Amino acid sequence: MERQKIVVLGAGESGVGAAILAQKKGFDVFVSDFGTIGNQYKESLKELKILFEENQHTQDRILDAAEVIKSPGIPDTAGIVKEIKRKGIPVISEIEFAKRYTNAKTICITGSNGKTTTTMLTYHILNRAGLKVGLAGNIGNSFAALVAAEEFDWFVLELSSFMLDDMFDFRANIAVLLNITPDHLDRYDYKIDNYAASKMRVTRNQTAEDTFIFCADDEETLKVLNHDQIKSKKYPFSIRRKIENGAYLENNNIHININLNDQLTMSITELALQGKHNIYNSMASGIVAKVLDIRNTTIRESMGDFKNIEHRLEHVAKISGVDYINDSKATNVNSTWYALESVGTDVILIMGGVDKGNDYSMLKDMVHQKVKAIICLGKDNKRIHEAFEDDVEIIVNTFSAHEAVQVAYHLAKKGDTVLLSPACASFDLFKNYEDRGNQFKAAVKEL
Ligand code: ADP
Repeated sequence: MERQKIVVLGAGESGVGAAILAQKKGFDVFVSDFGTIGNQYKESLKELKILFEENQHTQDRILDAAEVIKSPGIPDTAGIVKEIKRKGIPVISEIEFAKRYTNAKTICITGSNGKTTTTMLTYHILNRAGLKVGLAGNIGNSFAALVAAEEFDWFVLELSSFMLDDMFDFRANIAVLLNITPDHLDRYDYKIDNYAASKMRVTRNQTAEDTFIFCADDEETLKVLNHDQIKSKKYPFSIRRKIENGAYLENNNIHININLNDQLTMSITELALQGKHNIYNSMASGIVAKVLDIRNTTIRESMGDFKNIEHRLEHVAKISGVDYINDSKATNVNSTWYALESVGTDVILIMGGVDKGNDYSMLKDMVHQKVKAIICLGKDNKRIHEAFEDDVEIIVNTFSAHEAVQVAYHLAKKGDTVLLSPACASFDLFKNYEDRGNQFKAAVKEL
């Protein structure tokens, strides 16, 4: 019998993982990337004798596929995708494909901000509880690569809206939607409603046996939440009001009520992750853990000793009474707001980079209250000067992490915090946000 043809578009982590799994399952696989494929991925494909092409899309070969697995970075407007759709060939995401080959249950975490943190924290708790759990999605290994390699009982998956867009029959046993704030609107016709609808796809196909966890304080989520359509058990979380079934904050204690006979109460001072945004992230992870019936002591211990991931409000050092914090992953205005909110002292703020059409107005009050000086770290800082010239006396331009840290060191007084939380992408001066964070940390360590 002729083997069914599968084409994988894009040869990054997701595409190569999909190709490995498809080959293992006996498909005739062809990988096509319009750009240059990274060496490590090329080696994996060669080793497994998976056919591929780079720097081009050979249309005839691609349009011969029974099904196409598309990497999340490729938009629907790409010429080849339009052709594939015109021919009626189904296009799915790697997540949709991989789920066909595992019976493991899934916890799917999405949202505009906080996905990686919540995914890692949830994974940490489940691991501590002794569950056989895999961590995948928009983070670390691809889901498909893990499904190909090993058996798990549970997966914690970080899902971006691009992944969700090409998921159809997938059903999340537990879905978590952290928040919806404008991001990536260029892929959604500049309409927040389209982007929000994409995020809501995380609840698609859920049944009464499944769970949906969401933020009851998030306006956009509440707007798109159609209670009739969601069949799963709903557990909201809030820091503003008491929640009967779900989680809430009262007098600096988190309360999680899933099972009325066995509530979990934990002081926010015990949480490893500090800051208001992390109370949300911790509540979401805590609900997941309670739904899985993990013991309160295990949940409490793991939420207390979790080591935050690099570049997210990461404490770097205390030098001459000044704290240095690396929040290089804050690449939009909303995350910088939460970073500032989490700091209890005067702040020297290092920000700037590639401005994605930012609206800085939501930061103005916070900057006015807490920020003593802004150190711009970007090629073009005009918009930052314009936005904050009335709120902050000192705004200076710097062009390297080293220079920014040196200036911060001279401006900071004992008890202050130097915070790198750029609100912008990093590509003007750095390779990526990790590079920016690493250079910042290296410069702090030289002080
Ligand atoms: P994502 O994976 O969604 O990009 P991360 O967990 O990597 O999110 O966090 C990115 C940044 O977003 C953090 O540095 C922090 O400043 C901010 N952030 C984290 N959680 C939240 C939240 N629940 N709400 C708003 N901002 C958040």
